[in-house]
Amino acid sequence: MTSQSGARNDDSKREQTSPDSESSPTFGPQPGVSKQDASRRKFLQTAMGSAAAGAVTAGMAPSSALAQTLLTPEQALKELLDGNKRFVSLKLTSFEQDVAILRNHTSEKQQPFASVLACADSRVPVELIFDQTIGHIFVARVAGNFITPEIIGSFEYGAAVLGTKVILVMGHGSCGAVDATIQHKAVPGQISALFPYIQPAVSKAGTDVDTVSKANARIQAALLRDSSTVISSLVDHGKLKVLAAFYNIGSGVVSLL
Ligand SMILES: [Zn+2]
Repeated sequence: MTSQSGARNDDSKREQTSPDSESSPTFGPQPGVSKQDASRRKFLQTAMGSAAAGAVTAGMAPSSALAQTLLTPEQALKELLDGNKRFVSLKLTSFEQDVAILRNHTSEKQQPFASVLACADSRVPVELIFDQTIGHIFVARVAGNFITPEIIGSFEYGAAVLGTKVILVMGHGSCGAVDATIQHKAVPGQISALFPYIQPAVSKAGTDVDTVSKANARIQAALLRDSSTVISSLVDHGKLKVLAAFYNIGSGVVSLL
């Protein structure tokens, strides 16, 4: 259950890291919204800057219809990791936000501050484990969380157009796709189409599932950085971080690799 004092402390910390938090005109506290709610929302408003501020796009003209987060890559990463701490300690705040209001505010535009590539595994609910809600994280999921041209294109869109400031490539414990690749299991249908993407991590890291999952996350994060000039350019200019991470499905903890 939510601890009121814990959540308030988190809010005040976030406000300290948020420049300009009083001046964001995007959307103010709503009637009937609690102080705690309003405080967290204020942070998120700051995270979602006004029209195309800091438009990062490589050769892409900012549109007045687009707005991007004002968070730095470091602040965006901190917001993700702080959210994971709230998840681990069962002090979630995202459920306290009014979903109807959020849905209304994001119906015509989105301003996610982070992207996450995760496994399709049902035990890896990305928004939940980072304590985020509608409009905050740009997520792609595929069993084995590996990079393909389609995934690259998706994250290029997330970073260059929507303005995400951090991309996490996140493996997890007890991954079935990794285990099946290690075992070279006979599988029905097209499941084996997953294996070639994960095989480099198996070749590098051996037969322990979690060790291979971590190696795979590192390999895929490097692949994403190196195979996209859009993403590598943003990284080189300090406007984007691309990091590998590992989710412990037992403890709920996300660790950077
Ligand atoms: Zn998995």
